[in-house]
Amino acid sequence: MRDTTPLDRVIVGAGMSGLAHAVHARGRGDRVAVLEASDAVGGVIATQTTHGYRHERAATSIPSSAYDLRDLLAAVDAQDLLVPASEAAKAQFLLTASGLVPVPRSPPALLRTRLLSTRAKLRALGELVRGRRQAPEGETLHAFVTRRFGRAIADTFLRPFTNGIYGAAPERLGAADAFPRLVALERRRGGVLRGMMSGGLGGSASARAKGSKRQVLMPRDGTASLTAAVAASLGSAVHLGTHVARVEPGDVERPARVHTQDGQSFAAHELSLAIRAPAQAALLTEAYPHLADMLRAVDYVPMVVVAVGYASGAGPALPHGFGFLRGPGSTARILGATFNSCLNPAVAPAGGTLLTTYIGGSEDRAAVALDDDALRAIVLDDLAQALGGPIEPTLFDITRWTHAIPMFVPGHRGRMAAAAAELAAGRIRLLGSHATGVSLNDCCRPAAPVQGPLPTGLVRR
Ligand SMILES: Cc1cc2nc3c(=O)[nH]c(=O)nc-3n(C[C@H](O)[C@H](O)[C@H](O)COP(=O)(O)OP(=O)(O)OC[C@H]3O[C@@H](n4cnc5c(N)ncnc54)[C@H](O)[C@@H]3O)c2cc1C
Repeated sequence: MRDTTPLDRVIVGAGMSGLAHAVHARGRGDRVAVLEASDAVGGVIATQTTHGYRHERAATSIPSSAYDLRDLLAAVDAQDLLVPASEAAKAQFLLTASGLVPVPRSPPALLRTRLLSTRAKLRALGELVRGRRQAPEGETLHAFVTRRFGRAIADTFLRPFTNGIYGAAPERLGAADAFPRLVALERRRGGVLRGMMSGGLGGSASARAKGSKRQVLMPRDGTASLTAAVAASLGSAVHLGTHVARVEPGDVERPARVHTQDGQSFAAHELSLAIRAPAQAALLTEAYPHLADMLRAVDYVPMVVVAVGYASGAGPALPHGFGFLRGPGSTARILGATFNSCLNPAVAPAGGTLLTTYIGGSEDRAAVALDDDALRAIVLDDLAQALGGPIEPTLFDITRWTHAIPMFVPGHRGRMAAAAAELAAGRIRLLGSHATGVSLNDCCRPAAPVQGPLPTGLVRR
């Protein structure tokens, strides 16, 4: 058993969410402990080097607008670990029935693209004069974009984007849940394009983005180097191999507590659960059965991540770009690919090519159960079609995630907010990508304590 003097904060989980939260709390002078069940920090983030190819099992790239992540790295003196991707990152492709087509990146390019009819282009530009509307309650992202820009934009660009980035069809996502800023632009600025042209929603992120070039950033030494650097700054506050088995809520005069599988117990003014929703549900079943049911129902998309590496001459040269997303008319099963060695040649041996493909998501839940041979056949066939030639890979690495990315379905944020309000009284906070947002940057956003410290003299054991 440990000392029963409460810590300021006990954090369960040493993925990016838990580690970032611990650094912020430390920065305020809090005494913290981070309890991690496995024997490594990073959670889903893992970088591996195989046959000279440095590949990722989850996050690979970060937009330069990821200011919360960048601030976190600066706070632990690790800002040099993020470097700009090559110029190739500026081009993105859609895989269509007639091969790879560049995604238009500006209004003039949108007017020139052959991906849309003239009528669809005019309908999209009409968003500028569509004016302020109140998004209906529970509107899906697909319905929102169709209402503002027309169906062709929703099907041609939005669907590949949400499938490729979030693994979910836009009909399944709530507009205000998955992209609250878009909905706020309509409400507060009278339209999405109008709002973007007038500098977004204001606030410190918009101010910082103004005048700075939008870029893609890459972890110089692999994404796991980011979580390793953040964890290193926390030193002995991170306890590996410490599986939390039970939690006890606190109240205004009593700390919350956690009990670990190996019989330790920790008391804290605040308990932060930086673990996925089903794991939170397991810990909260006893004290909050209704919240546990809600968390159990949070739907995560499954995803298979396949890293493919090949030597010079063993496959086609990649087009200069970030990668491609499966677009309209394509018969491919893969959702898209990232051209890692275009973005950062250091991830492959000299002359080699590394790319990462994704299969699964909300509309292809069976993919995660495919065996290695089936996945190999699908990936190599689809890539041969997309890139215009067969590949003989040196590296073919498969990672199956049954719970890859939480789906922000209509009403998700409201349910999470109600849970947060109820749990705050018990000195418990929910973190993790389903609570804060799915990107690494979302996981790093600072948050104020849920309750003040316990009044001196009132601490009951
Ligand atoms: C395939 C994939 C690709 C992605 N690509 C990108 C990208 O390119 N860019 C980007 O910004 N984001 C990307 N993301 C999202 C981002 O990587 C995740 O949102 C983020 O890493 C989640 O971190 P987390 O700390 O919330 O959760 P996790 O990483 O799941 O960490 C939770 C931790 O809690 C521990 N734990 C669980 N239960 C217990 C317990 N009872 N006791 C103690 N410890 C426990 C686990 O062992 C784990 O270490 C991607 C995600 C996936 C899956």
